[in-house]
Amino acid sequence: PARTRFAPSPTGFLHLGSLRTALYNFLLARATKGEFVLRVEDTDQTRKKEGAEENIYESLKWAGISWDEGPTNGGPHGPYRQSERLDIYRKYANQLIQSGHAYRCFCSRERLDQLRASAKKLTPPSMATYDRHCYHLDQSESEHKEFSGKLYTIRLKSTEKYPKVTDLLHGELDLQVQINYADTRYDDPVLFKTDGYPTYHLANVVDDHLMEITHVIRGEEWLPSTPKHLAIYDAFGWTPPQFVHIPLLTSLEDKKLSKRTGDIGIKEYALNGVLPEALVNFVALFGWSPTAGADKPKRKRQSTDGEILSMDQLIQKFNLNGLTKGNAKVSESKLEFFNAHYLKALIETPDGLDAIAREVQPLFIEKFSNVVANRLKFELDYIKQVVSLFKGKIHNVKDLPDEASYLFYDSPNWGSADAMNYIEQLSVTNESKAAVSILEEFLQWWNSRKELWTPTEIDSFIKSLAKERGYKSSTVFQTLRFAFSGSIPGAPLSQLMILLDKENVTRRVAAALS
Ligand code: GLU
Repeated sequence: PARTRFAPSPTGFLHLGSLRTALYNFLLARATKGEFVLRVEDTDQTRKKEGAEENIYESLKWAGISWDEGPTNGGPHGPYRQSERLDIYRKYANQLIQSGHAYRCFCSRERLDQLRASAKKLTPPSMATYDRHCYHLDQSESEHKEFSGKLYTIRLKSTEKYPKVTDLLHGELDLQVQINYADTRYDDPVLFKTDGYPTYHLANVVDDHLMEITHVIRGEEWLPSTPKHLAIYDAFGWTPPQFVHIPLLTSLEDKKLSKRTGDIGIKEYALNGVLPEALVNFVALFGWSPTAGADKPKRKRQSTDGEILSMDQLIQKFNLNGLTKGNAKVSESKLEFFNAHYLKALIETPDGLDAIAREVQPLFIEKFSNVVANRLKFELDYIKQVVSLFKGKIHNVKDLPDEASYLFYDSPNWGSADAMNYIEQLSVTNESKAAVSILEEFLQWWNSRKELWTPTEIDSFIKSLAKERGYKSSTVFQTLRFAFSGSIPGAPLSQLMILLDKENVTRRVAAALS
């Protein structure tokens, strides 16, 4: 069983990339019947944002990611908020001073800035910018300075070479080569700051150790920190967890995500009508595939085949072998595809239909209350039927009021670009005449049947009309649907006629004819 954690810093809203990190850690824990820990890394007090912590909790809950231990529910390794663990970090930092793996550094910021500036000017520039001035202080001098109240940081004595990183996804990484360091040595990393807070590095390592974390799945952006973390583990004599650094999320053009290409808060997705199941399914496949590593089936597969995965299925299928290297590209149309799928499934359940109708009811009222006199159209019952009518036709509930506007306005928008196009198409293909006679015959039939018609009757009327006159039945359907709704694809005809009242059906066909 794996013990994993998600360790966000409350510096902003939870975004797509962090949702994926949380999800993978959660899935690994659930898949192996282990535990998933939520830890808030708030040691950088200057970057802390009001409300960010709540946003993290709410976003995770919305997505269906629950944690076994964390700030909200406690657990045997608490507290789970780093700002409440300062004594613990102080104790461990002192332990490293005692054991000779760390030292107090009294250098002023000005001095350090100067050293950094001159190291940059070297060719090649040096990675080790600190001259280790305080490393050479003798013990009693160091203690004396501390005693006299001088501010200091605690630095790790780095070894000549940093440990190699072994990553479950990337294998053995020689970071010194990879990052092309001019020097064989890094700076001695700061473990404890003058403000009494530990650095991310120390707190992260101490907590992962004390919380008995077995696997750390985190974004590639943390890779440069990992050698430092390994050096800290070494200094304590602790066994590090297994690391997995997952590729960055990028836009389709392989660029860093921007607001337009998906770098928006998770809650914003929710507010924009994205369903949690859709977003989770979408995010799960950024850098993981249920079939990677498995034998590929011989049959040619549709690209979306096997990609629809509920949280339970993800838990069943998730394993680290399915992780993929290479940047994961975020495609909005893929998200729309997932959303359409889950929306349809939701509308098919009575509770889902009810929930969606309640959600969109205010949108309909807002959009149409000035133009629609018939208040029945705003009742939940009617809205439910409208939602059902569009089952499988829309990918986002927010589009419903626009899509269904022809049911609320007096007449459909025959003047829209699509509609004009269709009309033009009819005359190009010499079908205008046929369309007119279809509408005329329908009107005649309708006037005799409208009190008593049934959906099956509509179907058989259309079939017989098509047969007698030699039209394709799709032409008849299209023509009528166009008269009712001003669009060609869309809702099932008979359902649509139920939602338009009888007079309105007559009026629309007559109007289309004129
Ligand atoms: N606090 C870090 C973050 O904000 C955690 C990185 C890690 O997982 O070690 O992502």
